[in-house]
Amino acid sequence: MKTKRGSGVKRCMFLRSGIIIQLIINLIAFSACSQNAGRHESSINPQKMAVNKTEEQWKKELTPLQYNVLRQKGTERPFTGEFDDFFEEGDYSCAACGALLFHSSAKYNSGCGWPAFFEPADSLNMLFKRDLSYGMVRTEVMCAQCGGHLGHVFDDGPKPTGVRYCINSVSMVFKPSGQKKSPE
Ligand SMILES: [Zn+2]
Repeated sequence: MKTKRGSGVKRCMFLRSGIIIQLIINLIAFSACSQNAGRHESSINPQKMAVNKTEEQWKKELTPLQYNVLRQKGTERPFTGEFDDFFEEGDYSCAACGALLFHSSAKYNSGCGWPAFFEPADSLNMLFKRDLSYGMVRTEVMCAQCGGHLGHVFDDGPKPTGVRYCINSVSMVFKPSGQKKSPE
C-alpha cells in the first residue's frame, strides 16, 4: 500500500542540507586525522547509563555548543576549543556529568586542532563505537556515565600507548590540581 511520504522526505532533505556545513567542516578537519583505532566496540544501552536524562533536560543544562557536541555528536571547529592549546596540571571531566576522563599528564600537543591525550584516566569511564559517518571509518569515544559524545580515538598517538584521543574541548571541564607535581 502506498503512503504519502512527500512531506516527510522534504523535511528529511531540509535537515540533511542543514548538516552539510557540519559535514564539510568534519571532512576538512579530519582529513589529516582519519585513521581508525580499530578498538572493540562497547555495548551501548542508553537506558542503562548511570546518568540518563531527557533531551529537554540536557538542553536546559548544557550550552548550545555543548548540547550540539555532547548530545548530537557535533564537532567544535579545530583550533577554537578552550583546551586545544592549554597545558595546565589537573583533571578533565565530562562537561555533562562530571565523570573523570583524562589527567593532564596524558595530554600532548598533537597539532590536530583539538585537545589530544595518549591515555584515559580510566578507560571504564569511556565507551567506544565504530563510526562510519562522513565516509570515514573512525572510533567514537563516549562518556560511559551519560553517553555524551567526546570525540574520536586514533592509532597515531605517541609512545607509550600509540593512541590519540582527539577530544572536543567543549565536552570537558578542567579542574586544576592545585598542587605541584610530586617528584618521581
Ligand atoms: Zn558524561
